[in-house]
Order: sequence, then C-alpha cells, then structure tokens
Amino acid sequence: LAGRTIAEIRKDFPILERTVHGNKPFIFLDSAASSQKPIPVLEAMDHYYRYSHANVHRGVYEVSEEATAALEKARVKIARFIHARQSKQVIFTRNTTEGINLVAYSWGSANIQAGDLIILTEMEHHSNLVPWQLLAQRTGARLEFVPVTDDGQLRLDIYTQLLEQQPKLVAFTQMSNVLGTINPAKAMIAQAHAAGAVVLLDAAQSAPHLPLDVQELDADFVCFSAHKMLGPTGIGILYGKKALLEAMPPFMGGGDMIRTVKLHESTWNDLPWKFEAGTPAIAEAIGFGAAVDYLNALGMDTVRQHEQEITTYALEALQAVPGVTIYGPEASLRGGVISFNVQDVHPHDLATILDQEVGVAVRAGHHCAQPLMDRYDLAATARASFYIYTVKEEVDILVQGLQKAQQIFHF
Ligand code: PMP
Repeated sequence: LAGRTIAEIRKDFPILERTVHGNKPFIFLDSAASSQKPIPVLEAMDHYYRYSHANVHRGVYEVSEEATAALEKARVKIARFIHARQSKQVIFTRNTTEGINLVAYSWGSANIQAGDLIILTEMEHHSNLVPWQLLAQRTGARLEFVPVTDDGQLRLDIYTQLLEQQPKLVAFTQMSNVLGTINPAKAMIAQAHAAGAVVLLDAAQSAPHLPLDVQELDADFVCFSAHKMLGPTGIGILYGKKALLEAMPPFMGGGDMIRTVKLHESTWNDLPWKFEAGTPAIAEAIGFGAAVDYLNALGMDTVRQHEQEITTYALEALQAVPGVTIYGPEASLRGGVISFNVQDVHPHDLATILDQEVGVAVRAGHHCAQPLMDRYDLAATARASFYIYTVKEEVDILVQGLQKAQQIFHF
C-alpha cells in the first residue's frame, strides 16, 4: 500500500495487536460501524492535551492562539481532502447524524412547505431518514422513496420518474452501510439539479473508502463522520455550498456563533462559525486532521483498491460456505461491506459464536436500516466490513468461524 506493506500499516494500529477471549487474536471486521485509530491520530490528540490545550477563538494568549490555529488547520486539511473550494464551507458537527439534522432543521425549516416533495431511498440509514420524517411532520412535506432491486441497487428508472414531480430536496447515501452498494452519485446529483432539487449526500460510508471530490460531484450538502475514517468519535463534517449555507438560519444558538448580542436580538458570525455554537471538539478536530493526513499518505485510490481486493476475495470465500446467503451487488459495484445470513441461524447467535470461537468481530442486527430489512423481509443480517488494515488471513478466519458455527448449529 503506497510503498508500505500491510504488516507495517497494521503496526500503526495498536488495538490490532490485542487478543480476546484469552489468547485469540482480535479479528476486527466491523470498520463500517467505526474504524480503528492509528498512532499518529492518537499522538496528535495526546500532544494537544499535553501541551496546547486552551479554549479557542477568543484567547489572546499564546496557548489559546495555538489551539485555535490547530483547530483551523484541521479544517483546512479536511476541506482539501474533499476538494471543497473554501474551508469556510466545512462545518464541524458531532457526526453525520448531526450534519443531516442541521440541514433538516435549518435549511428545511426555511425552504420546505406543506405539499413539497423530498426524495429519499429505501437503503438509507436511519440518520438520513428520521430527520426528514421529522421535517415532513413539522411542515406537511411528502416523502417518496427510490426502491432497491433484489441485488441491492437503486431503481434509477423510478428515480427518474419521481424527479418529474419536482422535488425540493433529494437525500441519499453514496454507499450503503448494509449492502455495500456504491450509488452513481454524480449522475444522480446532476439529474436532481436538472429537476430543480437541492441534494444532500450521506457520505458516512463513502468518505472513508473512496476519493471524494465535492466539487466534481456538485453536491449541495455532504455529511460524514471522523470515527469511520481513522479519526476519533464526536466529530464530523457538514460541507455545504456557500450560498446555501450563508442563506440558512443558525441551527443552535450560543457562544461563538454570534457577532453581536443584545438582550432581545443577536446577529450571526460568518461561516463556518455561524453553525458552531459552543466550545468545539478541539482535540477531536485535530485528531481528524491527522486521520486525513494518514489517508492522504496512503492515497484514497490505494485505499479503494485494497478494499476491492479484500472484498472480492471475501465474497468468493463466503459464497463457498454452504448455507450462506449474501445480500447486495457484485464486487465491482460495492465497497468493503458484506451482509449475510447463514440459513436460519440468528445473526446475533452467529456473531456471538464468531467472537467466542475465533475472535472475529462482526456486527449483527438491522444496521440502523430497518426499512431496508423490511424490503428483503429480513429481521437482521450479520455484516463483515473491511478497511486498509484488513488482510485476507482475517477473512480466512471468518470462514473458519462459520465452519465452526456449522458444526454447532448443524446447518
Ligand atoms: N449514514 C450511514 C450510511 C452510516 O453508515 C452511518 C453510520 N453507521 C451514519 C449515516 C451515521 O453516522 P454517525 O452515527 O456517525 O452519525
């Protein structure tokens, strides 16, 4: 990987050296839920707390200025990482969920009225569904959904038809956290714009794994979380087009987001701070910046290529296990996420066996996508997901675990 062996890369992630259940190596196949963190990210945060911590933005003393500079430097790194035109378009949030809620409240309340149409898809994570339901309940707007095919792709023919109804907003995920499907975001955004809609892209799963160019995609809003891309929890990004962000009212009120405050009224700070009320997650922003440095050093094309290799290998290996059903499209259309079931074994039981018997961590459940589970008439699936530190040997151990489960459950 970019001149480094995978063994070298794995050494950057101390947690991968630990064992579970006594002496079993920890096989972490749950990066789609949250990735592990490399030493440079841990060190950046540690260094900040040890030597440069103070509150940001209003301090005139050296250490506060240092903290402010570090926070704002992280913003610039992230802006470059996603090819934003200006760093002021990059707003720190807590996570993807908060970014989507910010847009649903702020932009939504100012722009959506009774009878307006919002288009979503059947494969959305709850965090790109429930905020729009709340908005629809507040305003009387309508929600319509692009269905998914049996093999986990969007019905783009129906999307095209829905666009004829002139939606105000289209919100969809660039990559499904359940099926792994990579949606044709650029074309879908262009179509939505031609129909007069504003587009929010949920990049929670794509930003960590694919090169992301918000200008090339021409997305109006893009949300993602640091914790899925080698960074810490508690910080994410809302990117927005400048004119939209400038026209939007604030989401939360408080310190930092104001310019002047009188007893009965206030005026707002410039972007991005208008949307950053209160003391920000300073160490987390710095950690996020270090995560982006780490990904840049590898190169996002390399990240994607490595994950494609692992995913292709894993799809073949899992298909060869009797009784396994895999959901989602063929390897070339997906990211490093594989949802599966094994006959009538409950995915929770399966995940427990995999953990106890072979130390493999996979997720089991509805993956915050209950409507998608309903679409396939499923209660739950098991899900294995991969990242830059995943090796084929780990996939082999997953397969061995499934073979053990086979003996236990007699499928
Ligand atoms: N959208 C997708 C596609 C996701 O996979 C996730 C996280 N599982 C989210 C949104 C929400 O991310 P967060 O919990 O970090 O807000």
